[in-house]
Amino acid sequence: MIRLTRQEPGRYDLLFRGAAILIAASVFTIDTFTEIEGAIAVLYSIALLLAAQSVERTGLKFFSALFLCMALISFTFTHAAKADFPTYMRLGVALISLGLTTALLLRNDRARAELLRINAALALSEARYRSIFDRTRVALWERDYSKLRAHLLEMSARGVTDIKSYARQNPDFVNECIGMIDVVASNQAAHELLGTRDDSSLARTGSHFIPMGDDTFASVLQAIVDGDTYFEGNAEIMTESGERKHVLVSISFPTDVEAFDRVVVGMIDITQREEARLALAAAKEELSHATRAATIGALSASLAHELNQPLGAIAVNAQTLTRWLDRDPPDVEAAKRSAERILRDSSRGSDILKSTRLMLSDMPRQPEVVALAKLIDDTLELMKHDLQAENVSVEVVQKRAIPPISVVRLELQQVLINLISNAIQAIAAAEPDRRVVTITLDTVDDMISLIVCDTGDGLDEAARAKLFTPFFTTKSSGMGIGLSISRSTIEAMGGSIEGSNHPDGGAMFEIRLPGEREDA
Ligand code: ADP
Repeated sequence: MIRLTRQEPGRYDLLFRGAAILIAASVFTIDTFTEIEGAIAVLYSIALLLAAQSVERTGLKFFSALFLCMALISFTFTHAAKADFPTYMRLGVALISLGLTTALLLRNDRARAELLRINAALALSEARYRSIFDRTRVALWERDYSKLRAHLLEMSARGVTDIKSYARQNPDFVNECIGMIDVVASNQAAHELLGTRDDSSLARTGSHFIPMGDDTFASVLQAIVDGDTYFEGNAEIMTESGERKHVLVSISFPTDVEAFDRVVVGMIDITQREEARLALAAAKEELSHATRAATIGALSASLAHELNQPLGAIAVNAQTLTRWLDRDPPDVEAAKRSAERILRDSSRGSDILKSTRLMLSDMPRQPEVVALAKLIDDTLELMKHDLQAENVSVEVVQKRAIPPISVVRLELQQVLINLISNAIQAIAAAEPDRRVVTITLDTVDDMISLIVCDTGDGLDEAARAKLFTPFFTTKSSGMGIGLSISRSTIEAMGGSIEGSNHPDGGAMFEIRLPGEREDA
């Protein structure tokens, strides 16, 4: 084979070259000095084949040219004067054979060079992949899924295609499947994640890392059966020491079936993120209760006020009723009218109590069709005392007819209470000449817009960026959770809430909510 790179000739190279020269010299001698009439010069091709084992392209061309010259010299020396047609034919055959051998050897050499180049590129790419695999901080495994895939496809052929529910009904199935996966390689980050020392412990305790009840692995099995090329999901894993961790799992399944013996599985540890998310959700839940408690505080004040009136009326009517009965003869008709008034007032009192109990209960509340203007009025009534205490007046501006909306009334009321409380506090802190909260109702692009605007100092740039971030507060006794809860509440209703500054000063919070559809 022709050598690709220039090197000092080795022992075998010299042998090949020597043999080539020997054969060529023999052919030349026989061709030139004997009377043999055969196409002996064809044998130069063999000499060329031998030479090709030890020379490069240029060397090959040199030998080819040399053998050509030798054949021609022999021909000139022996036959030139009396050459006949068969002699020319023999020379032609020899030259064609030499030419073809040269062309084939050169082509072969080019193909081999290309193959070597591809191999070198492959080796480089493999080295690059290895270095990424080993050094990345993402935990990576190469796992042999071929046995598992064959098993799953065989099950699917038997009609078991819903692998997830099959795994749920057969608890041992998942373990059985994990046992079919071999770990081919894993990187340092993978060992750090699982707390293992080497790949043998990974293989030994394969099923140990997947806690019972986690159905992510069943989803992976389903993805294989469905022929998906990619899987991503959150899972819980158990480390070697028994610690539970949350991970983001991603698996690329090859399109080539043969490559299932080296499937790359990646995991990112999201335990801290997950814990923070859960803590935040718990804090929000707790604080949403606190907000409700604050609402109830305001509510109790108004409750006392509202109950006062029917209770007083009941007392007055009871006295009147006694008087009608004390008459001689008793005025039964008048007494009956008083009793009816007592009944009416007591039922009003019980209605007030019922709605308060609803506020206090933890029962899931149902959305209802709410007229916003009425909700605003009711909320202002609730906050009457706070508004009066800070000497803040409220202007409600309704720009056009507002369609009703379908929401959980109490939740939207809590958002309003929060916005109005913030506005009152902002006005109290700023001590402006005008102490007004303006609530504007309007419709914008099929959405209902409710704007709460105050005459406080407004929002500075830093506050605007963080307004809805949980625990952001600029108040010494603030919790910084009201706006964050308000945003999640409004977004759950399919709406949005944004804070900005009014051109005339003061903060402005706009809620946009989808209106109740006419055809709904
Ligand atoms: P808290 O009222 O407990 O601070 P919020 O989430 O309701 O929590 O508000 C977060 C922050 O947003 C407040 O501390 C304040 O800096 C700012 N903010 C909210 N409403 C207004 C307003 N109307 N004017 C000025 N700043 C406001």
